Amino acid sequence: MVSRRILLGGLAAGLAAPVLAHAEGYQETRTPPVWKPKARRTAKALATQPGDKAALDKALKTVKPLEGAQAEDPTTVSGVQVQPAKPVPSISPDEALGRLKQGNAAFARGGASLVSPSIARIGEMAASERPFAVVVACSDSRVAPELLFNCNLGDLFVLRAAGPTVGPEALGAIVYAVDTLGASLVVVLGHTKCGVVGAAVDAATRKSRPTGVFEAMLAPILPAVFDAQGEKAADLHDAAARRNARNIASRLKVADGILAERIAQGRLKIVPATYDLTTAQVAFEA
Ligand SMILES: [Zn+2]
Repeated sequence: MVSRRILLGGLAAGLAAPVLAHAEGYQETRTPPVWKPKARRTAKALATQPGDKAALDKALKTVKPLEGAQAEDPTTVSGVQVQPAKPVPSISPDEALGRLKQGNAAFARGGASLVSPSIARIGEMAASERPFAVVVACSDSRVAPELLFNCNLGDLFVLRAAGPTVGPEALGAIVYAVDTLGASLVVVLGHTKCGVVGAAVDAATRKSRPTGVFEAMLAPILPAVFDAQGEKAADLHDAAARRNARNIASRLKVADGILAERIAQGRLKIVPATYDLTTAQVAFEA
């Protein structure tokens, strides 16, 4: 069994890898002129522990003015329409949070109004996207963010991985969604009865031993299981899922200089939440 200390160190080291410049959809937009310097600050800021105030302050000190980004703001490059360099978030973090809460309330009472957009509306959205929130969710087939938040195409920038987990590629995509697309809220969404978290619990309590690719899949979730064991929660399985979402949200707050800057300016919130498979309700920790 790998020790907790080694696992946590490995997790931090994994997150400290350089962020990929090719987030989802990236090739369809113009490269922001300040992308590479941001990535370097990201790598430096990632070698921190969750929720560390000193680390957050340190990350903020590394943030420099984004010179050049405001001056260059074309709507076309070689005749092709592109995203503006610095989009202004369409709504505030609290407004975004309220919209998700309202959407989930409608879904949970069976009043969701999701309908397929018209071809004309789809065509309008082809030119650019302005998602108001990022959702980091589990891959579980019962946890589709657009459905349970009563949202539609173009509303949410979604990253899904079993657990969930967030590696360097996903972190790059989150920063891209916030900085380039203008999202003002990141929700890290765990859920009850998560099969992957259950497997991590079994591994941590030595009921089973993961092998091959499953060992790497479960490793990022094991620290949350150890944390939940420390809480002495009645339901270790669901407590570990909640803790995993909290841990990811805490790490994201100090993982990148751009995200830390937006939080300090009141332009971004990162919120953990848990979806209950039985009631269809999302409990936000904010
Ligand atoms: Zn799951």
